[in-house]
Amino acid sequence: MKVLPLVIVLISTLSLIPDNLTGQERQTDERVIKSFFDQTLTERQSYKWLRDLCEIGPRLSGSKQSLEAIHWVKSVMDTCGFDRVYLQEVMVPHWERGMPEVAFIKDTKGNQYPLNVLAIGGSIATPAGGITAEVIEVGSLVDLEEIDQSDVSGKIVFFNPHFDQRNIQTGASYGANVSVRARGAIKAAEKGAVASVIRSVSSAYDDIPHTGTGSYHSEVDSIPAAALGVESADLLHGILELDPKAKLFLRMDCRWHPEALSYNVVGEIQGQAHPDEIIVMGGHLDSWDVGDGAHDDGAGCMHALGALKLIADLDAAPRRTIRAVMFINEENGTRGGQAYADSAVNKGENHLVAIESDAGGYSPRGFGVTASEEQRTKLESYLDLFPRNTISYFSKGGGGVDIGPLHRSTGTPMMGLVVDGQKMFDLHHSPNDIFEAVHPRELELGTASLASIVFLIDQYGL
Ligand SMILES: [Zn+2]
Repeated sequence: MKVLPLVIVLISTLSLIPDNLTGQERQTDERVIKSFFDQTLTERQSYKWLRDLCEIGPRLSGSKQSLEAIHWVKSVMDTCGFDRVYLQEVMVPHWERGMPEVAFIKDTKGNQYPLNVLAIGGSIATPAGGITAEVIEVGSLVDLEEIDQSDVSGKIVFFNPHFDQRNIQTGASYGANVSVRARGAIKAAEKGAVASVIRSVSSAYDDIPHTGTGSYHSEVDSIPAAALGVESADLLHGILELDPKAKLFLRMDCRWHPEALSYNVVGEIQGQAHPDEIIVMGGHLDSWDVGDGAHDDGAGCMHALGALKLIADLDAAPRRTIRAVMFINEENGTRGGQAYADSAVNKGENHLVAIESDAGGYSPRGFGVTASEEQRTKLESYLDLFPRNTISYFSKGGGGVDIGPLHRSTGTPMMGLVVDGQKMFDLHHSPNDIFEAVHPRELELGTASLASIVFLIDQYGL
Protein backbone atom coordinates (compact mmCIF):
# COMPACT_ATOMS: atom_id res chain seq x y z
CA MET A 1 0.00 0.00 0.00
CA LYS A 2 2.87 2.36 0.73
CA VAL A 3 4.69 1.50 -2.47
CA LEU A 4 2.15 2.97 -4.82
CA PRO A 5 2.41 6.65 -3.73
CA LEU A 6 6.20 6.38 -3.88
CA VAL A 7 6.04 5.08 -7.45
CA ILE A 8 3.73 7.91 -8.40
CA VAL A 9 6.09 10.46 -6.82
CA LEU A 10 9.06 8.90 -8.62
CA ILE A 11 7.30 8.87 -11.97
CA SER A 12 6.13 12.47 -11.64
CA THR A 13 9.60 13.65 -10.54
CA LEU A 14 11.35 11.77 -13.34
CA SER A 15 9.06 13.33 -15.92
CA LEU A 16 10.35 16.77 -14.94
CA ILE A 17 13.97 15.81 -15.45
CA PRO A 18 15.23 16.59 -18.96
CA ASP A 19 16.54 13.48 -20.74
CA ASN A 20 20.15 14.59 -20.55
CA LEU A 21 20.22 15.32 -16.82
CA THR A 22 20.30 12.77 -14.03
CA GLY A 23 18.64 13.63 -10.74
CA GLN A 24 21.98 14.22 -9.06
CA GLU A 25 23.28 16.48 -11.81
CA ARG A 26 20.08 18.39 -11.68
CA GLN A 27 20.37 18.98 -7.94
CA THR A 28 23.93 20.23 -8.35
CA ASP A 29 22.88 22.53 -11.19
CA GLU A 30 20.00 23.91 -9.16
CA ARG A 31 22.32 24.57 -6.24
CA VAL A 32 24.90 26.37 -8.40
CA ILE A 33 22.29 28.44 -10.21
CA LYS A 34 20.64 29.43 -6.94
CA SER A 35 24.04 30.47 -5.61
CA PHE A 36 24.55 32.72 -8.65
CA PHE A 37 21.24 34.48 -8.07
CA ASP A 38 21.77 34.71 -4.30
CA GLN A 39 25.26 36.11 -4.68
CA THR A 40 24.47 38.71 -7.36
CA LEU A 41 21.34 39.96 -5.60
CA THR A 42 23.14 40.42 -2.29
CA GLU A 43 26.60 41.58 -3.42
CA ARG A 44 25.48 43.72 -6.40
CA GLN A 45 28.96 43.53 -7.86
CA SER A 46 27.97 44.19 -11.48
CA TYR A 47 26.08 47.28 -10.35
CA LYS A 48 29.08 48.58 -8.38
CA TRP A 49 31.34 48.04 -11.38
CA LEU A 50 28.81 49.73 -13.65
CA ARG A 51 28.85 52.81 -11.41
CA ASP A 52 32.66 52.98 -11.67
CA LEU A 53 32.50 52.55 -15.45
CA CYS A 54 29.85 55.26 -15.84
CA GLU A 55 31.93 57.68 -13.78
CA ILE A 56 34.49 57.63 -16.60
CA GLY A 57 31.89 59.23 -18.88
CA PRO A 58 30.71 58.37 -22.39
CA ARG A 59 33.06 56.07 -24.32
CA LEU A 60 32.84 56.65 -28.04
CA SER A 61 35.52 54.76 -29.97
CA GLY A 62 38.78 56.65 -30.25
CA SER A 63 37.98 58.98 -27.34
CA LYS A 64 40.18 59.46 -24.29
CA GLN A 65 37.39 58.05 -22.08
CA SER A 66 37.14 54.89 -24.19
CA LEU A 67 40.82 54.18 -23.49
CA GLU A 68 40.34 54.98 -19.82
CA ALA A 69 37.45 52.49 -19.71
CA ILE A 70 39.55 49.82 -21.45
CA HIS A 71 42.33 50.15 -18.90
CA TRP A 72 39.86 50.29 -16.02
CA VAL A 73 38.15 47.04 -17.13
CA LYS A 74 41.52 45.34 -17.56
CA SER A 75 42.58 46.40 -14.06
CA VAL A 76 39.30 45.03 -12.62
CA MET A 77 39.77 41.74 -14.48
CA ASP A 78 43.30 41.52 -13.09
CA THR A 79 41.79 41.30 -9.59
CA CYS A 80 39.20 38.63 -10.46
CA GLY A 81 41.37 35.50 -10.42
CA PHE A 82 41.00 34.77 -14.15
CA ASP A 83 43.73 32.72 -15.85
CA ARG A 84 44.44 35.27 -18.58
CA VAL A 85 43.56 38.91 -19.08
CA TYR A 86 44.69 40.65 -22.25
CA LEU A 87 44.04 43.45 -24.71
CA GLN A 88 43.41 42.75 -28.37
CA GLU A 89 44.56 45.62 -30.62
CA VAL A 90 42.24 47.12 -33.21
CA MET A 91 42.13 50.38 -35.17
CA VAL A 92 38.86 52.28 -34.75
CA PRO A 93 37.20 55.29 -36.38
CA HIS A 94 37.36 58.50 -34.36
CA TRP A 95 34.55 61.06 -34.72
CA GLU A 96 33.75 63.96 -32.45
CA ARG A 97 30.55 65.95 -32.00
CA GLY A 98 32.37 69.21 -31.17
CA MET A 99 30.39 72.18 -29.83
CA PRO A 100 26.71 71.64 -28.98
CA GLU A 101 24.44 71.73 -32.01
CA VAL A 102 21.98 74.58 -32.60
CA ALA A 103 18.68 74.37 -34.48
CA PHE A 104 15.59 76.54 -34.76
CA ILE A 105 12.67 77.03 -37.09
CA LYS A 106 11.88 80.58 -38.23
CA ASP A 107 8.46 81.24 -39.68
CA THR A 108 7.78 83.78 -42.44
CA LYS A 109 6.66 86.33 -39.83
CA GLY A 110 10.11 86.17 -38.25
CA ASN A 111 9.15 84.15 -35.14
CA GLN A 112 11.89 81.78 -34.05
CA TYR A 113 11.35 78.45 -32.21
CA PRO A 114 14.33 76.53 -30.79
CA LEU A 115 14.55 72.79 -31.52
CA ASN A 116 16.43 70.13 -29.56
CA VAL A 117 18.87 68.42 -31.86
CA LEU A 118 21.88 66.08 -31.89
CA ALA A 119 24.15 65.36 -34.83
CA ILE A 120 23.84 61.81 -36.10
CA GLY A 121 27.09 59.96 -35.44
CA GLY A 122 29.60 60.38 -38.25
CA SER A 123 27.91 63.47 -39.68
CA ILE A 124 29.94 66.21 -41.28
CA ALA A 125 29.67 69.72 -39.83
CA THR A 126 27.60 72.50 -41.30
CA PRO A 127 29.50 75.60 -42.43
CA ALA A 128 30.56 77.63 -39.37
CA GLY A 129 27.66 80.05 -39.88
CA GLY A 130 25.15 77.20 -40.12
CA ILE A 131 22.66 76.30 -42.84
CA THR A 132 19.31 78.02 -43.35
CA ALA A 133 16.86 76.45 -45.77
CA GLU A 134 13.25 75.61 -46.41
CA VAL A 135 12.12 72.18 -45.27
CA ILE A 136 10.41 69.31 -47.02
CA GLU A 137 8.79 66.79 -44.67
CA VAL A 138 8.44 63.11 -45.53
CA GLY A 139 7.35 60.07 -43.57
CA SER A 140 9.88 57.57 -44.88
CA LEU A 141 12.66 56.86 -47.36
CA VAL A 142 10.05 55.49 -49.77
CA ASP A 143 7.98 58.69 -49.53
CA LEU A 144 11.07 60.68 -50.49
CA GLU A 145 11.61 58.50 -53.58
CA GLU A 146 8.26 59.64 -54.92
CA ILE A 147 8.99 63.38 -54.69
CA ASP A 148 10.46 65.29 -57.64
CA GLN A 149 14.08 66.36 -57.30
CA SER A 150 13.05 69.97 -58.00
CA ASP A 151 10.89 69.93 -54.85
CA VAL A 152 13.79 68.74 -52.70
CA SER A 153 16.81 70.50 -54.17
CA GLY A 154 18.30 73.18 -51.92
CA LYS A 155 16.05 72.22 -48.99
CA ILE A 156 16.49 70.34 -45.73
CA VAL A 157 14.69 66.99 -45.77
CA PHE A 158 12.78 66.29 -42.55
CA PHE A 159 12.09 62.56 -42.08
CA ASN A 160 9.27 62.26 -39.55
CA PRO A 161 8.43 58.56 -39.08
CA HIS A 162 6.70 57.83 -35.78
CA PHE A 163 7.81 55.00 -33.49
CA ASP A 164 5.31 52.15 -33.76
CA GLN A 165 4.14 51.88 -30.14
CA ARG A 166 2.16 48.71 -30.82
CA ASN A 167 5.12 46.33 -30.75
CA ILE A 168 5.72 44.75 -27.36
CA GLN A 169 9.14 43.72 -28.72
CA THR A 170 10.22 47.36 -29.03
CA GLY A 171 13.34 46.39 -30.97
CA ALA A 172 11.07 45.68 -33.94
CA SER A 173 9.85 49.29 -33.97
CA TYR A 174 13.39 50.56 -33.57
CA GLY A 175 14.55 48.36 -36.44
CA ALA A 176 11.72 49.58 -38.65
CA ASN A 177 12.83 53.23 -38.39
CA VAL A 178 16.56 52.95 -38.02
CA SER A 179 17.19 52.80 -41.77
CA VAL A 180 16.04 56.43 -41.95
CA ARG A 181 18.79 57.38 -39.51
CA ALA A 182 21.33 55.23 -41.32
CA ARG A 183 20.55 56.22 -44.93
CA GLY A 184 18.42 59.35 -44.77
CA ALA A 185 21.31 61.69 -45.54
CA ILE A 186 22.30 59.67 -48.62
CA LYS A 187 18.77 59.56 -50.00
CA ALA A 188 18.23 63.26 -49.28
CA ALA A 189 21.53 64.24 -50.92
CA GLU A 190 20.66 62.21 -54.02
CA LYS A 191 17.72 64.58 -54.50
CA GLY A 192 19.85 67.67 -53.97
CA ALA A 193 19.03 68.40 -50.30
CA VAL A 194 21.49 70.50 -48.26
CA ALA A 195 20.90 68.68 -44.95
CA SER A 196 18.79 65.94 -43.43
CA VAL A 197 17.01 65.87 -40.08
CA ILE A 198 15.04 62.98 -38.62
CA ARG A 199 12.55 62.46 -35.84
CA SER A 200 14.60 60.62 -33.18
CA VAL A 201 14.11 56.88 -33.19
CA SER A 202 12.63 56.91 -29.68
CA SER A 203 9.72 55.31 -27.85
CA ALA A 204 9.50 58.25 -25.39
CA TYR A 205 7.28 61.31 -25.65
CA ASP A 206 9.86 63.89 -24.62
CA ASP A 207 12.30 66.27 -26.24
CA ILE A 208 15.57 64.41 -25.75
CA PRO A 209 17.20 63.72 -29.12
CA HIS A 210 18.73 60.28 -29.78
CA THR A 211 21.88 59.90 -31.84
CA GLY A 212 23.22 56.77 -33.52
CA THR A 213 25.24 55.93 -36.54
CA GLY A 214 24.58 57.38 -39.96
CA SER A 215 26.30 56.70 -43.23
CA TYR A 216 27.41 58.34 -46.45
CA HIS A 217 28.02 56.95 -49.91
CA SER A 218 31.24 57.70 -51.76
CA GLU A 219 29.36 58.62 -54.94
CA VAL A 220 26.83 60.92 -53.25
CA ASP A 221 27.57 64.31 -51.66
CA SER A 222 27.85 64.16 -47.87
CA ILE A 223 25.37 66.51 -46.16
CA PRO A 224 24.94 67.26 -42.44
CA ALA A 225 22.55 64.88 -40.67
CA ALA A 226 20.85 65.41 -37.31
CA ALA A 227 18.13 63.96 -35.07
CA LEU A 228 15.41 66.07 -33.44
CA GLY A 229 13.75 65.41 -30.09
CA VAL A 230 10.28 63.93 -30.58
CA GLU A 231 8.54 67.09 -29.28
CA SER A 232 10.77 69.25 -31.49
CA ALA A 233 9.81 67.06 -34.46
CA ASP A 234 6.12 67.57 -33.61
CA LEU A 235 6.68 71.33 -33.28
CA LEU A 236 8.47 71.46 -36.63
CA HIS A 237 5.68 69.43 -38.23
CA GLY A 238 3.03 71.76 -36.79
CA ILE A 239 4.77 74.94 -37.94
CA LEU A 240 5.34 73.56 -41.44
CA GLU A 241 1.64 72.72 -41.70
CA LEU A 242 0.73 76.32 -40.94
CA ASP A 243 3.64 77.93 -42.74
CA PRO A 244 5.28 75.70 -45.40
CA LYS A 245 7.84 78.41 -46.25
CA ALA A 246 9.26 78.50 -42.70
CA LYS A 247 13.02 78.00 -42.68
CA LEU A 248 15.13 75.68 -40.55
CA PHE A 249 18.51 76.80 -39.19
CA LEU A 250 21.05 74.09 -38.32
CA ARG A 251 24.59 74.48 -37.02
CA MET A 252 26.88 71.57 -36.19
CA ASP A 253 30.58 71.44 -35.42
CA CYS A 254 31.38 67.72 -35.89
CA ARG A 255 34.74 66.48 -37.07
CA TRP A 256 36.60 63.34 -38.10
CA HIS A 257 40.07 62.46 -36.81
CA PRO A 258 42.50 59.83 -38.14
CA GLU A 259 41.75 56.28 -37.03
CA ALA A 260 42.90 55.52 -33.50
CA LEU A 261 44.47 52.50 -31.82
CA SER A 262 42.06 50.80 -29.47
CA TYR A 263 41.42 47.41 -27.87
CA ASN A 264 39.01 44.64 -27.00
CA VAL A 265 39.50 43.50 -23.40
CA VAL A 266 39.47 39.74 -22.83
CA GLY A 267 39.29 37.78 -19.58
CA GLU A 268 39.60 34.00 -19.71
CA ILE A 269 39.31 30.97 -17.46
CA GLN A 270 41.02 27.91 -18.83
CA GLY A 271 38.90 24.76 -19.22
CA GLN A 272 40.07 21.59 -17.47
CA ALA A 273 38.45 18.84 -19.56
CA HIS A 274 38.15 20.55 -22.97
CA PRO A 275 40.42 23.61 -22.96
CA ASP A 276 40.15 23.89 -26.76
CA GLU A 277 36.38 24.41 -26.65
CA ILE A 278 35.65 28.07 -26.00
CA ILE A 279 32.46 29.63 -24.66
CA VAL A 280 32.59 33.38 -25.24
CA MET A 281 30.23 35.99 -23.80
CA GLY A 282 30.40 39.74 -23.99
CA GLY A 283 29.07 43.20 -24.53
CA HIS A 284 30.47 46.33 -26.13
CA LEU A 285 32.52 48.76 -24.10
CA ASP A 286 32.14 51.71 -26.45
CA SER A 287 29.05 53.89 -26.21
CA TRP A 288 27.65 56.96 -27.89
CA ASP A 289 29.09 60.24 -26.70
CA VAL A 290 26.02 61.43 -24.78
CA GLY A 291 24.86 60.02 -21.43
CA ASP A 292 26.87 57.28 -19.71
CA GLY A 293 26.21 54.38 -22.07
CA ALA A 294 24.82 52.70 -18.95
CA HIS A 295 22.25 50.41 -20.54
CA ASP A 296 23.95 50.50 -23.96
CA ASP A 297 26.12 48.71 -23.27
CA GLY A 298 27.82 49.18 -19.93
CA ALA A 299 25.17 46.81 -18.55
CA GLY A 300 26.02 44.07 -21.06
CA CYS A 301 29.73 44.39 -20.30
CA MET A 302 29.11 44.14 -16.56
CA HIS A 303 26.79 41.15 -17.15
CA ALA A 304 29.65 39.31 -18.85
CA LEU A 305 32.31 40.44 -16.39
CA GLY A 306 30.08 39.57 -13.42
CA ALA A 307 29.18 36.18 -14.91
CA LEU A 308 32.82 35.25 -15.48
CA LYS A 309 33.64 36.26 -11.91
CA LEU A 310 30.80 34.05 -10.57
CA ILE A 311 32.21 31.11 -12.52
CA ALA A 312 35.76 31.89 -11.33
CA ASP A 313 34.47 31.84 -7.75
CA LEU A 314 33.04 28.30 -8.02
CA ASP A 315 34.93 25.53 -6.24
CA ALA A 316 35.43 23.51 -9.43
CA ALA A 317 37.17 24.92 -12.51
CA PRO A 318 35.06 24.90 -15.70
CA ARG A 319 35.33 21.99 -18.13
CA ARG A 320 35.64 24.28 -21.13
CA THR A 321 37.48 27.58 -21.64
CA ILE A 322 35.25 30.54 -20.82
CA ARG A 323 35.88 34.09 -21.95
CA ALA A 324 34.32 37.47 -21.25
CA VAL A 325 35.05 39.99 -24.00
CA MET A 326 34.44 43.71 -23.84
CA PHE A 327 34.27 44.55 -27.53
CA ILE A 328 35.17 48.03 -28.79
CA ASN A 329 33.47 49.98 -31.57
CA GLU A 330 30.10 48.28 -31.85
CA GLU A 331 28.31 51.59 -32.29
CA ASN A 332 30.08 52.96 -35.31
CA GLY A 333 32.12 50.27 -36.99
CA THR A 334 32.04 46.79 -35.36
CA ARG A 335 35.82 46.74 -35.64
CA GLY A 336 36.20 45.01 -32.27
CA GLY A 337 33.85 42.18 -33.18
CA GLN A 338 35.64 41.78 -36.52
CA ALA A 339 39.09 41.76 -34.87
CA TYR A 340 37.96 39.07 -32.43
CA ALA A 341 36.61 36.91 -35.27
CA ASP A 342 39.77 37.43 -37.37
CA SER A 343 41.94 36.41 -34.44
CA ALA A 344 39.80 33.31 -33.80
CA VAL A 345 40.10 32.27 -37.45
CA ASN A 346 43.87 32.94 -37.56
CA LYS A 347 44.46 30.90 -34.41
CA GLY A 348 42.07 28.15 -35.53
CA GLU A 349 40.11 28.51 -32.30
CA ASN A 350 37.04 26.36 -31.74
CA HIS A 351 34.14 28.29 -30.27
CA LEU A 352 31.28 26.23 -28.92
CA VAL A 353 28.96 29.23 -28.61
CA ALA A 354 29.07 33.05 -28.48
CA ILE A 355 26.62 34.94 -26.26
CA GLU A 356 26.04 38.70 -26.26
CA SER A 357 24.22 41.00 -23.88
CA ASP A 358 23.38 44.26 -25.65
CA ALA A 359 19.71 44.87 -24.96
CA GLY A 360 20.07 46.83 -21.71
CA GLY A 361 20.31 46.11 -18.00
CA TYR A 362 16.62 45.33 -17.57
CA SER A 363 14.96 42.18 -16.17
CA PRO A 364 16.02 39.14 -18.19
CA ARG A 365 13.32 37.29 -20.08
CA GLY A 366 15.01 34.73 -22.32
CA PHE A 367 17.67 34.13 -24.92
CA GLY A 368 17.45 34.45 -28.67
CA VAL A 369 19.30 31.53 -30.23
CA THR A 370 20.84 31.14 -33.67
CA ALA A 371 21.76 27.46 -33.65
CA SER A 372 20.40 24.13 -34.82
CA GLU A 373 16.94 23.09 -33.69
CA GLU A 374 18.50 20.24 -31.74
CA GLN A 375 20.75 22.66 -29.87
CA ARG A 376 17.88 25.02 -29.12
CA THR A 377 15.76 22.13 -27.83
CA LYS A 378 18.60 21.09 -25.55
CA LEU A 379 18.72 24.63 -24.14
CA GLU A 380 14.95 24.53 -23.61
CA SER A 381 15.39 21.46 -21.43
CA TYR A 382 17.14 23.72 -18.89
CA LEU A 383 14.25 26.18 -18.59
CA ASP A 384 12.90 24.95 -15.29
CA LEU A 385 16.32 25.37 -13.68
CA PHE A 386 15.88 29.15 -13.90
CA PRO A 387 13.92 31.02 -11.22
CA ARG A 388 10.45 32.03 -12.33
CA ASN A 389 10.30 35.47 -13.99
CA THR A 390 13.87 35.29 -15.21
CA ILE A 391 14.71 33.15 -18.26
CA SER A 392 11.51 31.68 -19.66
CA TYR A 393 12.31 30.96 -23.32
CA PHE A 394 15.02 30.17 -25.85
CA SER A 395 13.53 31.60 -29.01
CA LYS A 396 14.62 31.11 -32.60
CA GLY A 397 16.99 33.76 -33.93
CA GLY A 398 19.17 36.17 -32.00
CA GLY A 399 22.76 36.96 -31.18
CA GLY A 400 24.56 40.28 -31.27
CA VAL A 401 26.39 42.73 -33.48
CA ASP A 402 29.78 41.99 -31.90
CA ILE A 403 29.53 38.21 -32.19
CA GLY A 404 28.03 38.37 -35.68
CA PRO A 405 31.45 38.33 -37.43
CA LEU A 406 32.49 35.19 -35.49
CA HIS A 407 29.20 33.52 -36.34
CA ARG A 408 29.50 34.40 -40.02
CA SER A 409 33.15 33.41 -40.41
CA THR A 410 33.12 30.19 -38.36
CA GLY A 411 29.47 29.14 -38.08
CA THR A 412 29.66 29.38 -34.29
CA PRO A 413 26.14 29.24 -32.79
CA MET A 414 25.19 32.55 -31.19
CA MET A 415 22.78 33.72 -28.55
CA GLY A 416 21.59 37.08 -27.27
CA LEU A 417 20.23 37.85 -23.81
CA VAL A 418 16.68 39.18 -24.16
CA VAL A 419 15.46 41.56 -21.47
CA ASP A 420 12.22 43.43 -20.83
CA GLY A 421 12.65 46.11 -23.49
CA GLN A 422 9.76 48.46 -22.63
CA LYS A 423 12.06 51.28 -21.51
CA MET A 424 15.20 50.73 -23.60
CA PHE A 425 14.25 52.88 -26.58
CA ASP A 426 13.11 55.73 -24.32
CA LEU A 427 16.77 56.40 -23.59
CA HIS A 428 18.93 54.39 -26.01
CA HIS A 429 21.68 56.56 -27.61
CA SER A 430 20.45 59.60 -25.67
CA PRO A 431 21.69 61.76 -22.78
CA ASN A 432 19.19 59.86 -20.58
CA ASP A 433 21.13 56.58 -20.78
CA ILE A 434 22.80 57.18 -17.43
CA PHE A 435 23.78 55.02 -14.47
CA GLU A 436 20.76 56.17 -12.46
CA ALA A 437 18.48 54.64 -15.11
CA VAL A 438 19.73 51.14 -14.21
CA HIS A 439 18.09 49.21 -11.39
CA PRO A 440 20.53 47.06 -9.39
CA ARG A 441 18.24 44.02 -9.02
CA GLU A 442 17.27 44.00 -12.68
CA LEU A 443 20.93 44.27 -13.72
CA GLU A 444 22.05 41.51 -11.38
CA LEU A 445 19.32 39.13 -12.56
CA GLY A 446 20.91 39.44 -16.00
CA THR A 447 24.36 38.64 -14.65
CA ALA A 448 23.08 35.55 -12.84
CA SER A 449 21.11 34.40 -15.89
CA LEU A 450 24.14 34.71 -18.14
CA ALA A 451 26.37 32.90 -15.65
CA SER A 452 23.76 30.14 -15.35
CA ILE A 453 23.47 29.41 -19.06
CA VAL A 454 27.25 29.53 -19.49
CA PHE A 455 27.60 27.13 -16.54
CA LEU A 456 25.08 24.70 -18.07
CA ILE A 457 26.66 24.81 -21.54
CA ASP A 458 30.04 24.29 -19.91
CA GLN A 459 28.73 21.20 -18.10
CA TYR A 460 26.82 19.57 -20.91
CA GLY A 461 28.03 21.12 -24.16
CA LEU A 462 25.60 22.47 -26.71
ZN1 LIG B 1 24.60 48.47 -27.89
